Amino acid sequence: MEDLFQFADDLGPFKILHIHRPAVGLRAIVAIDNTACGPSLGGVRMAPDVSAEEAFRLARAMTLKNAAAGLPYGGGKAVVFGDPKIEPRIKERQIRAFAASIVNLTDYIPGPDMGTDERAMAWIKDEIGRAVGLPRELGGIPLDEIGATGFGLAIATEVALDYVDFDLKGARLAVQGFGSVGKHAARFLAERGAVLVAASDSVGTLQDASGLDVAQLAALKESGRSLRDHRSGLKLPVDAILQVDCDIWIPAARPDVVEAGNAGLLRAKLIVQGANIPCTPEAEAALAARGVLIVPDFIANAGGVICAATEYAGGTQASAFAAIEEKIRLNTRIVLEEARSNRIPPRQAALKLAERRVRAAMALRRWNGGT
Ligand code: NAD
Repeated sequence: MEDLFQFADDLGPFKILHIHRPAVGLRAIVAIDNTACGPSLGGVRMAPDVSAEEAFRLARAMTLKNAAAGLPYGGGKAVVFGDPKIEPRIKERQIRAFAASIVNLTDYIPGPDMGTDERAMAWIKDEIGRAVGLPRELGGIPLDEIGATGFGLAIATEVALDYVDFDLKGARLAVQGFGSVGKHAARFLAERGAVLVAASDSVGTLQDASGLDVAQLAALKESGRSLRDHRSGLKLPVDAILQVDCDIWIPAARPDVVEAGNAGLLRAKLIVQGANIPCTPEAEAALAARGVLIVPDFIANAGGVICAATEYAGGTQASAFAAIEEKIRLNTRIVLEEARSNRIPPRQAALKLAERRVRAAMALRRWNGGT
Protein backbone atom coordinates (compact mmCIF):
# COMPACT_ATOMS: atom_id res chain seq x y z
CA MET A 1 0.00 0.00 0.00
CA GLU A 2 1.26 3.47 -0.85
CA ASP A 3 2.25 5.61 2.12
CA LEU A 4 0.49 8.90 1.56
CA PHE A 5 2.04 10.52 4.62
CA GLN A 6 5.09 11.15 2.47
CA PHE A 7 2.98 13.77 0.65
CA ALA A 8 1.41 15.25 3.78
CA ASP A 9 1.86 18.92 4.64
CA ASP A 10 0.02 21.38 6.86
CA LEU A 11 -2.96 21.49 4.47
CA GLY A 12 -3.62 17.74 4.28
CA PRO A 13 -4.52 15.04 3.52
CA PHE A 14 -7.07 14.92 6.32
CA LYS A 15 -8.54 11.41 5.70
CA ILE A 16 -7.95 8.52 3.33
CA LEU A 17 -10.49 5.72 3.03
CA HIS A 18 -9.68 2.43 1.28
CA ILE A 19 -12.72 0.44 0.18
CA HIS A 20 -12.68 -3.25 -0.75
CA ARG A 21 -15.90 -5.12 -1.58
CA PRO A 22 -14.82 -8.30 -3.37
CA ALA A 23 -18.41 -9.56 -3.75
CA VAL A 24 -19.00 -6.86 -6.38
CA GLY A 25 -15.39 -6.48 -7.55
CA LEU A 26 -15.08 -3.02 -6.01
CA ARG A 27 -11.80 -1.43 -5.00
CA ALA A 28 -11.84 2.31 -4.36
CA ILE A 29 -10.04 5.04 -2.45
CA VAL A 30 -11.40 8.33 -1.17
CA ALA A 31 -8.93 11.07 -0.32
CA ILE A 32 -10.19 14.02 1.69
CA ASP A 33 -7.50 16.65 1.61
CA ASN A 34 -8.75 19.73 3.46
CA THR A 35 -12.15 20.74 4.85
CA ALA A 36 -11.40 24.22 6.22
CA CYS A 37 -13.63 25.96 3.64
CA GLY A 38 -16.40 23.35 4.00
CA PRO A 39 -17.14 19.68 3.27
CA SER A 40 -14.89 18.33 0.55
CA LEU A 41 -16.34 18.32 -2.96
CA GLY A 42 -14.70 16.42 -5.79
CA GLY A 43 -15.22 13.88 -8.54
CA VAL A 44 -15.33 10.10 -8.59
CA ARG A 45 -12.87 8.82 -11.20
CA MET A 46 -13.21 5.32 -12.61
CA ALA A 47 -10.21 3.94 -14.50
CA PRO A 48 -8.14 0.72 -14.41
CA ASP A 49 -4.85 2.40 -13.54
CA VAL A 50 -5.74 4.86 -10.79
CA SER A 51 -3.81 4.98 -7.50
CA ALA A 52 -3.94 6.35 -3.98
CA GLU A 53 -1.33 8.90 -4.93
CA GLU A 54 -3.46 10.06 -7.87
CA ALA A 55 -6.47 10.34 -5.53
CA PHE A 56 -4.52 12.47 -3.08
CA ARG A 57 -2.99 14.73 -5.74
CA LEU A 58 -6.41 15.24 -7.33
CA ALA A 59 -7.94 15.93 -3.91
CA ARG A 60 -5.31 18.61 -3.30
CA ALA A 61 -6.11 20.12 -6.68
CA MET A 62 -9.77 20.30 -5.55
CA THR A 63 -8.79 22.02 -2.27
CA LEU A 64 -7.03 24.67 -4.29
CA LYS A 65 -9.65 24.85 -7.05
CA ASN A 66 -12.58 25.24 -4.66
CA ALA A 67 -10.75 27.82 -2.58
CA ALA A 68 -9.53 29.76 -5.63
CA ALA A 69 -13.11 29.83 -6.92
CA GLY A 70 -14.30 31.16 -3.54
CA LEU A 71 -16.63 28.19 -2.95
CA PRO A 72 -17.66 27.02 0.55
CA TYR A 73 -16.12 23.57 -0.03
CA GLY A 74 -12.91 21.76 0.73
CA GLY A 75 -11.07 19.31 -1.52
CA GLY A 76 -11.64 15.58 -1.94
CA LYS A 77 -11.52 12.97 -4.67
CA ALA A 78 -12.41 9.33 -5.11
CA VAL A 79 -10.93 6.74 -7.44
CA VAL A 80 -12.64 3.49 -8.39
CA PHE A 81 -10.37 0.83 -9.89
CA GLY A 82 -11.90 -0.61 -13.06
CA ASP A 83 -12.88 -0.22 -16.66
CA PRO A 84 -15.59 2.46 -16.90
CA LYS A 85 -16.95 0.73 -20.01
CA ILE A 86 -17.81 -2.53 -18.22
CA GLU A 87 -21.31 -3.89 -18.61
CA PRO A 88 -23.71 -1.20 -17.28
CA ARG A 89 -25.36 -3.58 -14.82
CA ILE A 90 -22.00 -4.39 -13.19
CA LYS A 91 -20.95 -0.76 -13.20
CA GLU A 92 -24.17 0.25 -11.47
CA ARG A 93 -23.64 -2.40 -8.77
CA GLN A 94 -20.06 -1.21 -8.19
CA ILE A 95 -20.97 2.47 -8.06
CA ARG A 96 -23.89 1.77 -5.74
CA ALA A 97 -21.60 -0.35 -3.51
CA PHE A 98 -19.10 2.50 -3.54
CA ALA A 99 -21.84 4.93 -2.49
CA ALA A 100 -23.03 2.65 0.31
CA SER A 101 -19.43 2.48 1.55
CA ILE A 102 -19.18 6.25 2.00
CA VAL A 103 -22.59 6.82 3.56
CA ASN A 104 -21.01 8.03 6.81
CA LEU A 105 -18.21 9.98 5.15
CA THR A 106 -20.37 13.08 5.25
CA ASP A 107 -17.47 15.47 4.72
CA TYR A 108 -17.15 14.15 1.15
CA ILE A 109 -19.67 15.14 -1.55
CA PRO A 110 -19.14 13.09 -4.75
CA GLY A 111 -19.36 14.56 -8.26
CA PRO A 112 -18.70 13.24 -11.77
CA ASP A 113 -15.20 12.78 -13.21
CA MET A 114 -13.54 10.61 -15.85
CA GLY A 115 -15.41 7.34 -16.19
CA THR A 116 -18.48 8.53 -14.26
CA ASP A 117 -21.38 10.69 -15.34
CA GLU A 118 -24.71 12.17 -14.30
CA ARG A 119 -26.26 8.70 -14.24
CA ALA A 120 -23.61 7.45 -11.82
CA MET A 121 -24.27 10.49 -9.62
CA ALA A 122 -27.98 9.62 -9.67
CA TRP A 123 -27.15 6.11 -8.35
CA ILE A 124 -25.00 7.63 -5.59
CA LYS A 125 -27.70 10.16 -4.67
CA ASP A 126 -30.22 7.32 -4.59
CA GLU A 127 -28.03 5.36 -2.15
CA ILE A 128 -26.84 8.07 0.22
CA GLY A 129 -28.76 11.26 -0.57
CA ARG A 130 -25.75 13.34 -1.55
CA ALA A 131 -24.03 13.91 -4.88
CA VAL A 132 -23.64 16.77 -7.33
CA GLY A 133 -23.70 16.80 -11.12
CA LEU A 134 -27.10 15.12 -11.17
CA PRO A 135 -29.35 14.59 -14.20
CA ARG A 136 -32.01 17.22 -14.87
CA GLU A 137 -34.76 14.81 -13.82
CA LEU A 138 -33.34 14.91 -10.28
CA GLY A 139 -33.09 18.70 -10.22
CA GLY A 140 -29.48 18.73 -11.35
CA ILE A 141 -27.65 21.00 -13.74
CA PRO A 142 -25.96 18.35 -15.91
CA LEU A 143 -22.54 19.94 -16.01
CA ASP A 144 -21.03 17.53 -18.55
CA GLU A 145 -24.00 17.81 -20.90
CA ILE A 146 -24.01 21.62 -20.86
CA GLY A 147 -20.21 21.83 -21.00
CA ALA A 148 -19.64 23.79 -17.78
CA THR A 149 -15.90 23.06 -17.64
CA GLY A 150 -15.40 23.60 -21.38
CA PHE A 151 -17.17 26.97 -21.08
CA GLY A 152 -14.84 28.00 -18.26
CA LEU A 153 -11.82 26.98 -20.35
CA ALA A 154 -13.04 29.20 -23.17
CA ILE A 155 -13.38 32.14 -20.74
CA ALA A 156 -9.88 31.52 -19.33
CA THR A 157 -8.53 31.37 -22.89
CA GLU A 158 -10.19 34.69 -23.77
CA VAL A 159 -8.49 36.39 -20.81
CA ALA A 160 -5.13 34.71 -21.54
CA LEU A 161 -5.14 36.13 -25.07
CA ASP A 162 -4.30 39.54 -23.58
CA TYR A 163 -0.96 38.02 -22.55
CA VAL A 164 0.09 36.39 -25.86
CA ASP A 165 0.74 37.75 -29.35
CA PHE A 166 -2.19 36.31 -31.33
CA ASP A 167 -5.98 36.70 -31.48
CA LEU A 168 -8.66 34.11 -30.92
CA LYS A 169 -10.08 34.69 -34.40
CA GLY A 170 -8.33 32.11 -36.55
CA ALA A 171 -6.20 30.76 -33.68
CA ARG A 172 -5.31 27.09 -34.27
CA LEU A 173 -6.58 24.90 -31.47
CA ALA A 174 -5.59 21.33 -30.56
CA VAL A 175 -7.47 19.37 -27.91
CA GLN A 176 -6.17 16.23 -26.23
CA GLY A 177 -9.12 14.10 -25.06
CA PHE A 178 -12.46 14.71 -26.76
CA GLY A 179 -14.72 13.81 -23.85
CA SER A 180 -16.99 15.97 -21.71
CA VAL A 181 -14.38 18.66 -21.18
CA GLY A 182 -12.50 18.62 -24.47
CA LYS A 183 -15.42 18.62 -26.90
CA HIS A 184 -17.21 21.48 -25.15
CA ALA A 185 -14.02 23.54 -24.85
CA ALA A 186 -13.58 23.06 -28.60
CA ARG A 187 -17.21 24.06 -29.22
CA PHE A 188 -17.11 27.26 -27.13
CA LEU A 189 -13.75 28.28 -28.60
CA ALA A 190 -14.84 27.53 -32.17
CA GLU A 191 -17.92 29.72 -31.56
CA ARG A 192 -15.48 32.48 -30.59
CA GLY A 193 -13.44 32.14 -33.79
CA ALA A 194 -10.78 29.51 -33.04
CA VAL A 195 -10.14 26.75 -35.59
CA LEU A 196 -9.89 23.18 -34.28
CA VAL A 197 -6.93 21.70 -36.17
CA ALA A 198 -6.47 18.50 -34.16
CA ALA A 199 -8.17 16.43 -31.49
CA SER A 200 -7.40 13.09 -29.87
CA ASP A 201 -9.05 10.36 -27.87
CA SER A 202 -7.72 7.16 -26.30
CA VAL A 203 -7.54 5.52 -29.76
CA GLY A 204 -5.74 8.14 -31.79
CA THR A 205 -5.29 11.69 -33.08
CA LEU A 206 -7.23 13.33 -35.89
CA GLN A 207 -5.62 16.29 -37.62
CA ASP A 208 -6.79 18.68 -40.33
CA ALA A 209 -4.96 21.98 -40.75
CA SER A 210 -7.93 23.42 -42.64
CA GLY A 211 -10.19 22.91 -39.63
CA LEU A 212 -12.35 20.15 -38.14
CA ASP A 213 -16.09 20.37 -37.59
CA VAL A 214 -16.58 20.25 -33.81
CA ALA A 215 -20.27 19.22 -33.97
CA GLN A 216 -19.50 16.32 -36.32
CA LEU A 217 -16.71 15.07 -34.07
CA ALA A 218 -18.86 15.38 -30.96
CA ALA A 219 -21.62 13.37 -32.69
CA LEU A 220 -19.06 10.71 -33.65
CA LYS A 221 -17.89 10.37 -30.04
CA GLU A 222 -21.46 10.36 -28.72
CA SER A 223 -22.23 7.43 -31.04
CA GLY A 224 -19.47 5.48 -29.28
CA ARG A 225 -16.91 5.66 -32.07
CA SER A 226 -13.39 7.07 -32.17
CA LEU A 227 -12.22 10.31 -33.76
CA ARG A 228 -10.17 8.12 -36.08
CA ASP A 229 -13.43 6.92 -37.63
CA HIS A 230 -14.02 10.43 -39.03
CA ARG A 231 -14.23 10.33 -42.80
CA SER A 232 -11.63 13.06 -43.43
CA GLY A 233 -8.42 14.30 -41.81
CA LEU A 234 -5.09 12.69 -41.02
CA LYS A 235 -5.27 9.66 -38.72
CA LEU A 236 -2.27 9.68 -36.37
CA PRO A 237 -1.17 7.83 -33.21
CA VAL A 238 -2.55 8.87 -29.80
CA ASP A 239 0.50 10.89 -28.76
CA ALA A 240 0.76 12.77 -32.07
CA ILE A 241 -1.53 15.40 -30.52
CA LEU A 242 1.49 16.56 -28.51
CA GLN A 243 3.34 17.80 -31.54
CA VAL A 244 0.71 19.23 -33.88
CA ASP A 245 1.27 22.74 -35.13
CA CYS A 246 -1.12 24.93 -33.15
CA ASP A 247 -1.44 28.13 -31.10
CA ILE A 248 -3.60 26.88 -28.23
CA TRP A 249 -3.25 23.41 -26.72
CA ILE A 250 -5.86 22.07 -24.32
CA PRO A 251 -5.09 18.89 -22.43
CA ALA A 252 -8.43 17.32 -21.42
CA ALA A 253 -7.55 13.67 -20.82
CA ARG A 254 -5.22 12.40 -18.07
CA PRO A 255 -2.68 13.65 -15.52
CA ASP A 256 1.04 13.89 -16.33
CA VAL A 257 0.62 13.59 -20.10
CA VAL A 258 3.30 16.24 -20.56
CA GLU A 259 6.55 15.45 -18.77
CA ALA A 260 10.17 16.50 -19.10
CA GLY A 261 10.79 13.96 -21.87
CA ASN A 262 8.06 15.17 -24.24
CA ALA A 263 7.49 18.84 -23.26
CA GLY A 264 9.89 19.87 -26.02
CA LEU A 265 7.50 18.45 -28.64
CA LEU A 266 4.70 20.92 -27.89
CA ARG A 267 4.44 23.78 -30.37
CA ALA A 268 1.62 25.84 -28.84
CA LYS A 269 2.16 29.30 -27.35
CA LEU A 270 -0.70 28.95 -24.91
CA ILE A 271 -1.74 25.92 -22.85
CA VAL A 272 -5.04 26.10 -21.01
CA GLN A 273 -5.27 23.12 -18.70
CA GLY A 274 -8.58 21.27 -18.86
CA ALA A 275 -7.35 18.04 -17.28
CA ASN A 276 -6.17 18.10 -13.70
CA ILE A 277 -2.36 18.14 -13.33
CA PRO A 278 -1.73 17.36 -17.02
CA CYS A 279 1.89 18.61 -16.89
CA THR A 280 4.56 17.58 -14.43
CA PRO A 281 6.35 20.43 -12.61
CA GLU A 282 9.49 19.77 -14.71
CA ALA A 283 7.45 20.03 -17.92
CA GLU A 284 5.83 23.29 -16.80
CA ALA A 285 9.25 24.74 -16.00
CA ALA A 286 10.61 23.70 -19.40
CA LEU A 287 7.59 25.17 -21.21
CA ALA A 288 7.78 28.44 -19.25
CA ALA A 289 11.48 28.72 -20.12
CA ARG A 290 10.44 28.60 -23.79
CA GLY A 291 7.89 31.38 -23.21
CA VAL A 292 4.81 29.16 -23.36
CA LEU A 293 1.99 30.67 -21.28
CA ILE A 294 0.12 28.16 -19.09
CA VAL A 295 -3.22 28.82 -17.42
CA PRO A 296 -3.10 26.30 -14.56
CA ASP A 297 -5.71 23.57 -14.14
CA PHE A 298 -7.38 24.67 -10.95
CA ILE A 299 -7.99 28.19 -12.27
CA ALA A 300 -9.01 27.27 -15.84
CA ASN A 301 -11.04 24.10 -15.26
CA ALA A 302 -13.11 25.23 -12.27
CA GLY A 303 -16.29 25.54 -14.39
CA GLY A 304 -17.55 22.08 -13.45
CA VAL A 305 -17.20 22.56 -9.73
CA ILE A 306 -18.66 26.08 -9.85
CA CYS A 307 -21.64 24.57 -11.67
CA ALA A 308 -21.88 21.74 -9.12
CA ALA A 309 -21.77 24.21 -6.24
CA THR A 310 -24.50 26.29 -7.92
CA GLU A 311 -26.61 23.13 -8.25
CA TYR A 312 -26.03 22.14 -4.61
CA ALA A 313 -27.17 25.63 -3.57
CA GLY A 314 -30.36 25.27 -5.65
CA GLY A 315 -29.32 27.62 -8.49
CA THR A 316 -30.23 27.44 -12.18
CA GLN A 317 -28.24 26.66 -15.33
CA ALA A 318 -28.20 30.37 -16.23
CA SER A 319 -26.86 31.33 -12.81
CA ALA A 320 -24.22 28.58 -13.11
CA PHE A 321 -22.95 29.98 -16.45
CA ALA A 322 -22.95 33.51 -15.00
CA ALA A 323 -20.98 32.36 -11.93
CA ILE A 324 -18.45 30.44 -14.08
CA GLU A 325 -17.89 33.42 -16.34
CA GLU A 326 -17.52 35.90 -13.47
CA LYS A 327 -15.24 33.76 -11.30
CA ILE A 328 -12.97 32.36 -14.02
CA ARG A 329 -12.62 35.70 -15.82
CA LEU A 330 -11.61 37.41 -12.57
CA ASN A 331 -9.33 34.64 -11.27
CA THR A 332 -7.50 34.19 -14.59
CA ARG A 333 -6.90 37.95 -14.72
CA ILE A 334 -5.63 38.08 -11.10
CA VAL A 335 -3.29 35.13 -11.66
CA LEU A 336 -1.85 36.26 -15.00
CA GLU A 337 -1.41 39.85 -13.76
CA GLU A 338 0.40 38.67 -10.62
CA ALA A 339 2.53 36.31 -12.69
CA ARG A 340 3.49 39.09 -15.08
CA SER A 341 4.18 41.79 -12.50
CA ASN A 342 6.16 39.53 -10.14
CA ARG A 343 7.79 37.49 -12.93
CA ILE A 344 6.61 34.21 -11.42
CA PRO A 345 4.97 31.22 -13.13
CA PRO A 346 1.15 31.44 -13.28
CA ARG A 347 0.90 28.26 -11.18
CA GLN A 348 2.86 29.93 -8.38
CA ALA A 349 0.56 32.96 -8.53
CA ALA A 350 -2.49 30.68 -8.54
CA LEU A 351 -1.16 28.70 -5.57
CA LYS A 352 -0.62 31.91 -3.61
CA LEU A 353 -4.20 32.99 -4.30
CA ALA A 354 -5.73 29.63 -3.33
CA GLU A 355 -3.52 28.94 -0.31
CA ARG A 356 -4.20 32.42 1.05
CA ARG A 357 -7.93 31.62 0.98
CA VAL A 358 -7.50 28.13 2.51
CA ARG A 359 -5.28 29.41 5.31
CA ALA A 360 -7.68 32.28 6.08
CA ALA A 361 -10.45 29.67 6.43
CA MET A 362 -8.21 27.37 8.52
CA ALA A 363 -7.54 30.20 10.96
CA LEU A 364 -11.29 30.30 11.64
CA ARG A 365 -11.67 26.55 12.27
CA ARG A 366 -10.92 24.88 15.65
CA TRP A 367 -9.15 21.72 14.42
CA ASN A 368 -7.61 23.35 11.40
CA GLY A 369 -5.34 25.91 12.96
CA GLY A 370 -7.74 28.34 14.64
CA THR A 371 -7.61 28.85 18.39
P1 NAD B 1 -14.21 11.93 -20.28
O1 NAD B 1 -14.08 10.54 -19.81
O2 NAD B 1 -15.54 12.46 -20.67
O3 NAD B 1 -13.24 12.19 -21.52
C1 NAD B 1 -11.90 11.84 -21.53
C2 NAD B 1 -11.44 11.74 -22.97
O4 NAD B 1 -10.05 11.55 -22.97
C3 NAD B 1 -12.07 10.59 -23.76
O5 NAD B 1 -12.40 11.05 -25.05
C4 NAD B 1 -10.94 9.56 -23.85
O6 NAD B 1 -11.03 8.78 -25.02
C5 NAD B 1 -9.75 10.49 -23.88
N1 NAD B 1 -8.48 9.89 -23.51
C6 NAD B 1 -8.19 9.00 -22.54
N2 NAD B 1 -6.88 8.74 -22.52
C7 NAD B 1 -6.33 9.48 -23.51
C8 NAD B 1 -5.03 9.65 -24.01
N3 NAD B 1 -4.01 9.00 -23.46
N4 NAD B 1 -4.84 10.50 -25.04
C9 NAD B 1 -5.87 11.17 -25.59
N5 NAD B 1 -7.13 11.06 -25.16
C10 NAD B 1 -7.35 10.22 -24.13
O7 NAD B 1 -13.53 12.84 -19.12
P2 NAD B 1 -13.76 14.38 -18.86
O8 NAD B 1 -14.85 14.56 -17.89
O9 NAD B 1 -13.79 15.10 -20.16
O10 NAD B 1 -12.41 14.75 -18.07
C11 NAD B 1 -11.17 14.92 -18.75
C12 NAD B 1 -10.16 15.50 -17.78
O11 NAD B 1 -10.62 16.74 -17.29
C13 NAD B 1 -9.85 14.67 -16.57
O12 NAD B 1 -8.49 14.84 -16.23
C14 NAD B 1 -10.74 15.27 -15.50
O13 NAD B 1 -10.23 15.05 -14.21
C15 NAD B 1 -10.65 16.71 -15.87
N6 NAD B 1 -11.75 17.54 -15.40
C16 NAD B 1 -13.04 17.22 -15.71
C17 NAD B 1 -14.05 18.07 -15.31
C18 NAD B 1 -15.48 17.84 -15.72
O14 NAD B 1 -16.28 18.74 -15.52
N7 NAD B 1 -15.84 16.73 -16.32
C19 NAD B 1 -13.76 19.21 -14.57
C20 NAD B 1 -12.43 19.49 -14.27
C21 NAD B 1 -11.44 18.65 -14.71
